[in-house]
Amino acid sequence: MRVTLDNIGKKYEGREKFTIRHINLDIDDNDFCVILGPSGCGKSTLLRMIAGLNSITEGTLKFNDKIMNKVEPKDRDIAMVFQSYALYPHMTVYDNMAFSLNMKKERKEVIDKRIQEVAKILQLEEYLYSRPSDISGGQRQRVALGRAIARNPAVFLMDEPLSNLDAKLREQMRVEIVRIHNQLDTTSIYVTHDQTEAMTMATKIVLLDKGIVQQVGAPSEFYQRPNNLFVAGFIGSPTMNIMKGKIKNGLFVNESGEVRVRPSEKDEAKIKSYEGKDIYLGIRSERFISEKRDYNSINVTIDVIEMLGKEQLLYTKLKDGTNLTISQPGYIDFSKGESHDFTLDPEALHFFDGESEERIN
Ligand code: ADP
Ligand code: MG
Repeated sequence: MRVTLDNIGKKYEGREKFTIRHINLDIDDNDFCVILGPSGCGKSTLLRMIAGLNSITEGTLKFNDKIMNKVEPKDRDIAMVFQSYALYPHMTVYDNMAFSLNMKKERKEVIDKRIQEVAKILQLEEYLYSRPSDISGGQRQRVALGRAIARNPAVFLMDEPLSNLDAKLREQMRVEIVRIHNQLDTTSIYVTHDQTEAMTMATKIVLLDKGIVQQVGAPSEFYQRPNNLFVAGFIGSPTMNIMKGKIKNGLFVNESGEVRVRPSEKDEAKIKSYEGKDIYLGIRSERFISEKRDYNSINVTIDVIEMLGKEQLLYTKLKDGTNLTISQPGYIDFSKGESHDFTLDPEALHFFDGESEERIN
């Protein structure tokens, strides 16, 4: 099912401002779309509008070519999984998953076939006759997913379904959910505040801030070409290094004058038009070259080293006090307190307007 949002807005009754503003979005058949953003930015509000649990204040919601604004949730061919899913404690796993099919008065053979299929996908076959209290947290979460999948929805909606799980289980479930999505013929829309979940699971990410879309695209586009300073800071771990400065004689010069960076050839023309103006320079931690070169080099002191094995994170300082996080392969020797030259890779520079904070290059 194709889900289309055309200029969607939401104003809650009694609130002065719109919680969601001017959202235009095309979610394709079989997309795994992740709605991402900080807590309170309106993710659940948006998902609940797609589900029909919140009314739509303005704009048009379509499933394929059908306008859905006034269609009852039960008639939308959707299923939804929440963070705080509630299983019926007195029912078996089987009956929990079969609940909505029983409500629809499906035939017993049809239900049984479907539950066996779903149990197989979710590896719950052994537990069908257990009660929720007798299985692990991860298995209970899978039952909640199973209950939704059993309905064979055209659109599968999930609102932070992994937030209550521990880190290890979350990692496993990420992979499982994507696998399930690939096996089913559905469009999935998944809400999270966790950029790692978005980067690892999505075919399409929608990043919201204060109810406004900041960027829509594939994970690699977000990483390589963030639209603005907010996106640059939200996506990627460690967070992108950002320095404020001005363009002087075609070079980026930071506030103290210690950092002087020449843009790459392809960026030169755009950067020239910023001569004398405020600008932000962003560079990701892994784009520092571990040597001094003719230009774009800096000298830092290494304050803290976090050895992660295959890489190490160096928390460093310039003389002017600017903090820079630099990632290097784990096998190179660095020591705390040492000063070291690095070079900013000119092909890896992100420039943002000093006022609008929009991407320039
Ligand atoms: P998120 O899921 O991104 O954390 P929500 O969509 O839950 O954000 O909330 C976005 C904003 O809308 C918040 O400021 C919240 O207080 C407000 N909000 C959510 N539900 C209601 C409601 N039923 N009535 C009024 N305001 C609400
Ligand atoms: Mg929410």
